[in-house]
Amino acid sequence: MRIFKFGGASVKDAEGVRRVSSIISHFSGEDILIVVSAMGKTTNGLEALVKSYLDNKPEACLKQFNALEAQHLQIIDELFGSSSLPLKDEVLELFRQLDTILKAPAKHGFNQVYDQIVSFGEILSTKIVSAYLNSQGFGNQWLDARRLIRTDQNFRAARIDWNYTRRLVNENVSAGQSYVTQGFIGSDDNYNPTTLGREGSDYTGSVLAYVLQAKELTIWKDVPGVLNGDPKVFANTELLKQISFREAIELAFYGASVIHPKTIQPLQERGIPLRVRSFNDVEQEGTVISEGVSLNPFLACFIRKDSQQLITLSTRDLAFIAEDHLSMIYKLFHRFGLRVNLSQHSATSSSFCVNDDPIASPPLLEELKQNFDVTVVGDLELYTVRHYNDSALTEIQSRGRKLLEQVSADTYQIVIRK
Ligand code: ASP
Ligand code: MG
Repeated sequence: MRIFKFGGASVKDAEGVRRVSSIISHFSGEDILIVVSAMGKTTNGLEALVKSYLDNKPEACLKQFNALEAQHLQIIDELFGSSSLPLKDEVLELFRQLDTILKAPAKHGFNQVYDQIVSFGEILSTKIVSAYLNSQGFGNQWLDARRLIRTDQNFRAARIDWNYTRRLVNENVSAGQSYVTQGFIGSDDNYNPTTLGREGSDYTGSVLAYVLQAKELTIWKDVPGVLNGDPKVFANTELLKQISFREAIELAFYGASVIHPKTIQPLQERGIPLRVRSFNDVEQEGTVISEGVSLNPFLACFIRKDSQQLITLSTRDLAFIAEDHLSMIYKLFHRFGLRVNLSQHSATSSSFCVNDDPIASPPLLEELKQNFDVTVVGDLELYTVRHYNDSALTEIQSRGRKLLEQVSADTYQIVIRK
């Protein structure tokens, strides 16, 4: 079986869904399990909805809800015209369920409510994609990932229960049949929806590839493959034809957004190649991530993370920042779900570069202020260069004022203000 994953950008409109169908038609006769993300920016829209709901802003809620409903209905109309009835009813029913949640007071904490609401994005997109592919002659069964991917209750960043998931997948997926299912979502033991972390659909593809011992996981994207930098951010980027699993994990760790950090590991364990290729050009082979040389061609690789915050903590009594402080600080970062992208320590102060998360950062900073003097500089960029060389560093250093820098044998990182 092959696993194909289509991200939000590839199904952002009716044309995108039609293109999925035309890509699939190149693989006729093969069993394919298709993993799909929420359409376009739906997940962002649903995140905003969660916020309005929990902030008790019914007007904003209604507006955001209506916009999401209209977008999905429009895509259905464009794809199916007047013959869209059963699907349209199903989609309207999903919006009715969402509306019921929004009209009642929240029964759970933020993270669980988030997963309950945000998971609708993938349910909606897969209903539409599955129905369209069926209408185009690609017979497929819609699978509910909440009955397939079993996780713990770590809402918003749920971890896979591998044994249970293996059982569910084996019960529900068989050879000789193709499927469409959701990326990003699963459920806990009580069937409460969970999510695997933003951009988690690649990881779903990888989990399913692992469990099914698939021959390849293909991620279809709006780029020709993995480049040595995001072409929107860096000039003269080039396609990497081959990347080793280990190098891919490193690149993902530093924020190369083409690959989700957790995606590589299950594939590496089973030696299942990951191919990243363009949904605009089925003829191109894209990039293969597999065992083998670290990079071909061997190039410096550039990564930028935007919206960074530099949090500097100092002890009030000039005491050393020691292991006990650091363990407490890291526990807090962990509790608020903020990943430290870079850290640097001196005797009485420590700096942490983290994603500026408008939801998690303010309460975290409040807690830190109870024990430390805290300064925060926002609106920063973190650049990472793997396999750096002189000209790469010159280019990056000219991008702004340096606030923090770190160099190791093969990786250079710098936090700058534009
Ligand atoms: N729809 C989710 C997100 O936008 C998952 C994904 O796209 O992979 O984060
Ligand atoms: Mg998405």
